[in-house]
Parts: sequence; C-alpha cells; structure tokens
Amino acid sequence: MSDLTSVETHLAEILESIRPLPPIELSLPEAENLVLAQDVIASHPLPSFDNSAMDGYAVIADDIATASEQAPVTLPVVGEIAAGDIGAYALNPGTAIRIMTGAMLPNGAELVVPVEWTDAASSGGQSSRVTIHAKAGPGHAIRRTGDDAKAGDVLVARGTRLKPMQIAAIAAAGHGSVMVRPRPRVVVLSTGNELAEPGTAIVPGRIWDSNSFMLAAAAREAGCLAYRQAGVPDNADEVLRTLEDQLIRADLLVTSGGVSMGGEHDVVKSALRRLGTITFRKVAMQPGMPQGFGTIGEDNIPIFTLPGNPVSAYVSFQAFVRPAIGALQDDDELQLSTVKAELTAPLRSPPGRRSFLRAILDRQNPDGERVTPLTGQGSHQVATLGKANALITVPEWVVQMQAGEVADVLVLP
Ligand code: AMP
Ligand code: MG
Repeated sequence: MSDLTSVETHLAEILESIRPLPPIELSLPEAENLVLAQDVIASHPLPSFDNSAMDGYAVIADDIATASEQAPVTLPVVGEIAAGDIGAYALNPGTAIRIMTGAMLPNGAELVVPVEWTDAASSGGQSSRVTIHAKAGPGHAIRRTGDDAKAGDVLVARGTRLKPMQIAAIAAAGHGSVMVRPRPRVVVLSTGNELAEPGTAIVPGRIWDSNSFMLAAAAREAGCLAYRQAGVPDNADEVLRTLEDQLIRADLLVTSGGVSMGGEHDVVKSALRRLGTITFRKVAMQPGMPQGFGTIGEDNIPIFTLPGNPVSAYVSFQAFVRPAIGALQDDDELQLSTVKAELTAPLRSPPGRRSFLRAILDRQNPDGERVTPLTGQGSHQVATLGKANALITVPEWVVQMQAGEVADVLVLP
C-alpha cells in the first residue's frame, strides 16, 4: 500500500476548492489577457453602414454594363466621399462619385469600380470625368451592413482570455470596458535561515534565494500580479505573522521551503498545522513529493506550501499552482500544453512516481519533434533548470525509456 497521493487527485482536490474571483469592470487596456466574465454582444451590426471596400467610383450597374478595354465608358464625377464623411449623398443615374475605402456608400449606388479599372489610376483622380474599362455587377467592392456580425451576435464569449484578436472585436463594437476576472494577486514567500538576497555577499553555509524570484516570475508569466516576500527565517511564529500580514493583498499565497519530512526545522509545516486548514501530503511525483495545500484567513485564501528545492518548487508551480491560477479566473485552459516527441537518449524514472525531467525540446526538426533529457536531474540542480525549455513526463508505471521512444512533453511557457 502506497501512502502517496496521485498527481491527479492532488490537483483535482485543489481545483475543487478554488472559486473564481468576483468579476470587475475594466477598461480595454486593463482587460488585456484577462478572462471575460460576460458575453460581449454586438449592440449594432458590424459594419454599421454599407461602405466601400476599395478606393474607386460608386456607380449604378447599368451605367457600366458594356464597359471593356475596347469600349470603355466615361461618366461625369459629381462628388467625392472620404472615410469619416457623414453627409448624405445620392448617386444619380449616368454619374459616378469618387469614394474611398471605408466611406459610406451614397444612396442609389450599386457597386464600386476599383480605381485600378479606370483612367484615374494613372491620372490621380482629380478629373471631373472618369473612364472605366471593366465591368462588374451589383455589390462589387461593397461591404454590407452586418456582413461581419449582426446586432445581438455574441462577439466574444464569456470565459475567453482576451488576446489582441478579441480586443479588436470588442473595440470595433464600441465597448470601452468589459467585465473580467481580476488579475490574481499572488504573494510569494520563501523561508529558510540560509537564504540571502542575490546581489549581496554570502559566506559558506548560506545560499542565494532563487525560489522567490522564480515563483514570482512564474506567477507573472501566468498573468498574475506577484508580490515577493523573501527570506523569512525558520521561525514558526514569524512565518505565521508574515503570512497573516500578507493576506490583505493576496488572492493566492505560495511559500517555498520548510515542508520536508525533517521535523522541527520544517517551520512552514509546523506553523500551518496549527491552523488546521492545510493538508500536507506526499504526492507520487519526482521532484516535488512533499506538498501542502489549503486555505488561510477569514477569506479562505488558497495557500500552496511548495518544497524548497528549486526544481521541486518550479515543477510544483507548473503542475498545481498554475492551474489554480486559472481556476481563480474561471479558466480551465491555463495548464501547460503537452506534445509528443521522440527521445534522443534513454532515461530512467522511479517506480510508482510520475517524473518530470528537465529537457530540451526541438520543435524545428523536419522529421518531427525531438526531446533530449538534460543531465543533472537532482532537484537542487537549478543550473540544469536554466537550460530547459520542456519537462518530459514519465508515467508512474514506467521505469525506463529508450532513445527513439515517444515521450509526453510539457512545453514550458
Ligand atoms: P527545505 O524544503 O526548506 O528543507 O529546503 C530544501 C532545500 O531547498 C534546501 O537545500 C534549501 O536550502 C533549498 N531552498 C529552500 N528555499 C530556497 C530558496 N528560496 N531558494 C533556493 N533554495 C532554497
Ligand atoms: Mg528550509
């Protein structure tokens, strides 16, 4: 009997307990890359008026029905309409109106003859007459009202993360602000008496804190605001006090260190155990076995207590915290994408645990994607992490794989 919890169970329980943040109304620039909490509806048709698709001449189809290279048709040009003109124009039979791309079609016009089909292509179009040497039928080079969207259409659906494409559709429909899930605020806290700030001098026995920088960066990359609270000493009271202090600005808390199996020095564990709202367990994975998750404070803020080894903390973030950040935004697609790739070298993996091996994924290979496991897979080996762009995931029941086999690979963002 194993006392390990599977990766799936641990993640499922985390996601089960997370509620999306209440929506807020934000202006379009502020809403970029956030998740829509409403359907965005077209209040008008798009386009909202018939307009020209090209620079050319608005005409009536019958007037140019015989136009050809050999027998061009000449019409008087009685006016000019530019994009943005709001005057009401009418086109009379036997005449043409010069019209620009995006300009409102004059009443009575049936098509637009592109300037390239006329003598204005060479003369510059200032003349009071235009000679047309090709014909087309009604509707040519006209963008009809509503040919893109009808009034009442859903332009962007609730739950969509707003990329530039969706921002375009929303702005084009005239909405200056939208209801979105707020950007989650993530507080990152690293614990350990050994930690020093990068940029300061250290003595043997101390190390520079990398986790808090890494986790804050990973949170920002996942679309969060991140606050870094570095180097909390191994003192249970101080850990608790710092966490309580930070609650005010946190939608999610992430700690690193102090949760191994080692006893009194594991201050995060002993401090948070007192609260009784956080579960500590061993998850069947490598790296990242000791995991803690629960809620803290009156508002039940989710808290992750990640192991201290940098690679364990990184893998744990991508496996558990990133999907939880998605859940805070009602987005179940924030987890990393998986691809299949052919191994260029053999690998080993512990029985009964899913391993996440740092690797280099080559997606440019014309014969298919290739992946190379890096050497130096210890969970403290952060230099190897710095070389990786992917994690090979090896199932619990697989203990070795050969070069040439196809592996599942998480693409790192
Ligand atoms: P712990 O989980 O506190 O027992 O830490 C496990 C290992 O991770 C130890 O070697 C720690 O020194 C190291 N470690 C803990 N926190 C950090 C950190 N913020 N940055 C880099 N290494 C860390
Ligand atoms: Mg520690």
